[in-house]
Amino acid sequence: TRELVRAVDRILTHADHARRLRVEANADTAADAARARSLGAQGVGLCRTEHMFLGDRRVLIERVILAKTDAERQLALDALLPLQRADFAALLAEMDGLPTTIRLIDPPLHEFLPDYTDLSVKVALEKERGALDPHDEELLAAVKRMHEANPMLGLRGVRLGLVIPGLFALQIRAICEAAAARLAAGGSPRPEIMVPLVGSVQELHLVRDEALRIMADVAAESGAELDIPVGCMIELPRAALTAGRIADAAQFFSFGTNDLTQTTWGFSRDDVEGAFFAEYTENGVLAVSPFETIDTRGVGRLVSIAVAEGRAARPGMPMGVCGEHGGDPESIRFFHNVGLDYVSCSPFRVPVARLEAGRAAISTAGSDAR
Ligand code: PEP
Ligand code: MG
Repeated sequence: TRELVRAVDRILTHADHARRLRVEANADTAADAARARSLGAQGVGLCRTEHMFLGDRRVLIERVILAKTDAERQLALDALLPLQRADFAALLAEMDGLPTTIRLIDPPLHEFLPDYTDLSVKVALEKERGALDPHDEELLAAVKRMHEANPMLGLRGVRLGLVIPGLFALQIRAICEAAAARLAAGGSPRPEIMVPLVGSVQELHLVRDEALRIMADVAAESGAELDIPVGCMIELPRAALTAGRIADAAQFFSFGTNDLTQTTWGFSRDDVEGAFFAEYTENGVLAVSPFETIDTRGVGRLVSIAVAEGRAARPGMPMGVCGEHGGDPESIRFFHNVGLDYVSCSPFRVPVARLEAGRAAISTAGSDAR
């Protein structure tokens, strides 16, 4: 086995020399980041901060979203700040010296709020029994206000961030404070702030302005020099089609091919991820799985448009992909050809991505020579 490990290592080193694509990993915790780094990841391309609030902490986000008054919301946000600062400090420590892309919270509301139907039934039963709990009734009213028939196509990402005051600001402050503390301790933190589900440049301008304000505040408070890039996900067809304008406010793009596939095909990713679909060609029926391998004519075409528009507006702008396709061999070849700078995938897929990125570079170099 030692021989085998050495052989694999040699092949990967060869691929690393050849490839142009950087390989980063999606990691939400310091432990994931450590695993990714040990497998050769050159950064964290996506930290999904909503995952930091699953389990016991879910109620903290619920409290922020459903707060009845500004004071109540501020109290909930204040409780979150030290937790997030510690989360980001741990991540930045693990990834010291390497880019660490922290995505502002993108919580599908149905995963973070009590279930509307369950709660309605509960309150109806309480009323029937003449034992209505006023707290339940109040909660139902609050949940009803936020209830959506189609949460994956609703108040998510930047839309929620702009509707709930202070939520993004809290995370941005926690990132800045964690970076400032690490700098003061002699480290080399390289956080980047990523805004999810942007559909229009105005959304990004609002968040970016706020981020720059907070960055300046924390720099003044701590004496640290903070120059944290602010970029966004391109994961909606409208974002891809208006990428030239969005580039005015974005220092980098990261393609979210999970949502981009869902919204381009009109298939719900939650219901059909991994399923095969029929695509009708001139010669017959082809089985395709756009959630597994990038659909180069549809989703891929949107990626090409956004790369071209983005780069025309902001030459040299860094661009990568952090959807599941970032770890898929065929898709990696496409991302190399379209000119992305990096792919980001699950930690365990990092070695495969390094290999495929190397193969893509070698095969295009071959065809260039011919
Ligand atoms: C995506 O949509 O491709 C993405 C990376 O974001 P998420 O999967 O968290 O929606
Ligand atoms: Mg997404």
